Amino acid sequence: MPDGYSIHGLLDALFRHTGEQVMVFDHELICRFVNKAACDYKALSEENFLGYHASTIFSPDRYETAIYGALQKALSGETVHYRIWREHHLGGQCGFDVRVEPVPDRTGQLLGALFSARDISEQIKAEERARLAMMMFEHTTEGLMMLGADQRIQVVNPAFTTLLGYSVDETLRNQPEMFVPSLANGEQPYTEVWHALEYNHSWQGEITYRRRDGRQVPTWQTMVRVRDAAGDIKHYLAILNDLTERQRFEDQVEQLVYYDILTGLPNRALLSDRISQAMARTERRNGQLAIVFLDLDRFKAINNTLGNALGDQLLRAVSDRLKQVAGSEATVSRYGADQFVILLPQINNPDQASALAHHVLDALNVPHEIGEQTLTVTASLGISVYPDDGDNREGLIQHAETAMHATKKAGRNNFRFYTQDMNQRSTEFLLLENNLRKGLQKQEFVLYYQPQIDLKTRAVIGMEALIRWQHPEFGIVPPNRFISAAEETGLIMPLGKWVIQEACKQNKAWQQAGLLFAPIAVNVSARQFGEQLESLTREALQNTGLDAHWLELEVTESTLMEDLNEAILMLGTLKHMGVHLAVDDFGTGYSSLAYLKRFPIDKLKVDRSFIIDILEDPDDAAIAGAVISLAKNLRLKVIAEGVENAAQLDFLAELGCDEIQGYWIAKPLPADQIPLFLTDWCTRNT
Ligand code: C2E
Ligand code: MG
Ligand code: MG
Repeated sequence: MPDGYSIHGLLDALFRHTGEQVMVFDHELICRFVNKAACDYKALSEENFLGYHASTIFSPDRYETAIYGALQKALSGETVHYRIWREHHLGGQCGFDVRVEPVPDRTGQLLGALFSARDISEQIKAEERARLAMMMFEHTTEGLMMLGADQRIQVVNPAFTTLLGYSVDETLRNQPEMFVPSLANGEQPYTEVWHALEYNHSWQGEITYRRRDGRQVPTWQTMVRVRDAAGDIKHYLAILNDLTERQRFEDQVEQLVYYDILTGLPNRALLSDRISQAMARTERRNGQLAIVFLDLDRFKAINNTLGNALGDQLLRAVSDRLKQVAGSEATVSRYGADQFVILLPQINNPDQASALAHHVLDALNVPHEIGEQTLTVTASLGISVYPDDGDNREGLIQHAETAMHATKKAGRNNFRFYTQDMNQRSTEFLLLENNLRKGLQKQEFVLYYQPQIDLKTRAVIGMEALIRWQHPEFGIVPPNRFISAAEETGLIMPLGKWVIQEACKQNKAWQQAGLLFAPIAVNVSARQFGEQLESLTREALQNTGLDAHWLELEVTESTLMEDLNEAILMLGTLKHMGVHLAVDDFGTGYSSLAYLKRFPIDKLKVDRSFIIDILEDPDDAAIAGAVISLAKNLRLKVIAEGVENAAQLDFLAELGCDEIQGYWIAKPLPADQIPLFLTDWCTRNT
């Protein structure tokens, strides 16, 4: 006790100013002392307490009656201690730790009772928070672990033990590294984590754990360091999210998007990606890469004789062999039905590509055991090399494909590098008179049909016949690749004759089947537009029994303008037969309006070039509008070609166009798809 202080004085000061509420009562429960905290709490001054009986000080509510009861107990020598949580009369909730105890004198004689109440609101709130945190800890689906400053596990939650399959005891006091296998490069993932946590407050990333049963569990992990008030690291908290499901889902999506279902090989999309990556790498290293295009020989025949199921098995067997031969660096992808593309991402020398090609051919020459059958399938290969044979991936693939076709032509079961003149040769090849003639003999030409629609009624009011060359090696060849050659060589005459004949026959067949009663439109080239056309048309109608008004001939505007007088005569003869006449590609030539009036035509076809940009280009819109009103003035029908979307269609409807044709309705379709189109169209538009 310091000099000059009396214990009484010190206690008095302490009681007066402590934050705890203190009141002292004598043995008759008359208040003898009250401190500031108690006055403040009741919002009364000292005079309202001193000399008053406890029953008048405490109000008769539940909490204060309890205090009064406790005071009475204290007078019989009992200490009462309890906590309450109550409304504060100034608002809000507060918690109190209340103590009421007897006050004895030095001899043990009872003097009175001491009431003290401590505000423990903050403590209660903290406890509540801790309780909630504990609940979260127990029930969250995220794995949680708390490590000590020594990086050893101190606490884990149930989700953590479920995730890893270990019991709590098996994890405690271990370092988390124990559950994390090293990466392929020998590094322990946690090394990076600890390193990061030296400088940062937290770390996030993927860590793959090994479960007790050996399975790997990928997780997304957040790790936070926890310091104490002095700033020393006390704990590390780790939160683990199980990524297994997500990864499985991602794998599935990737499989669907990037892999071929039948063979499991990368598809075109993934191949494109890989080629782009390889090209970028090659550029940095000044190296080369090779594309090997492989097409199985006569696979269609095999498929047709053996059936699709065995065909599929064969494709799978082939893809297995290709993977084996190509090695792990290469990408073997399925490119088409029986086409594969192999990417060699890094070669020093084209010889490496030819070595692979040899290996592929050898590997395929070993017969496959498929079901009960022993099958051998050969392949034709073409190779292109980057950067020599092209600077973009489409070009490279195309060139490898061209080389493959050259291999086929030279007798199959072999390979060939792309050379510059191959491209030229492949197109030249198509254009050779001889080949056109052969194609005609072998009936390699077919007609596709594109429907024409009445804008108002949505009825199908015609079909345009469009020729295709179904080439055994080049696939479907469009007319712009061979029509001009056919015209130059004069082969357009037999070809055109076949077209009219075939179109009339087809239309008659549709009529007999009750499918369609509308004219069939046939394109007539300038070379055909002579005297022969009349006899040819007459013959076709006679041979097929089609009525003349079910046939429409399309002549281009420029054909008509070549020799105006001749054209008028020619058209007159055809018109006289009852055939409909349309002017194709209208707007691209320089029509003489004076003559146009004298042509006995029925219809103008607004050229596709005006329709493409009709919404964006005001000039195109103006021309289309002018052609449509011109047609109206001349009392001609008008049809717009190449309508590809609803917006164009609406715009043309507003301009007063009668009819349309284009991909928006249907692409040109092979004859056998027309019945389905017609039923579909009818159900959609009635
Ligand atoms: P065309 O008579 O003007 O035929 C319209 C062309 O536009 C067709 O091309 C058709 O497929 C295409 N087309 C139709 N709608 C759309 C569309 O919405 N978008 C796009 N992008 N294109 C569309 P195709 O079949 O390649 O024919 C090209 C040209 O070859 C024809 O132009 C025609 O002049 C000529 N041709 C086609 N078949 C024959 C034929 O049997 N004999 C003659 N002499 N020429 C033919
Ligand atoms: Mg046409
Ligand atoms: Mg046209």
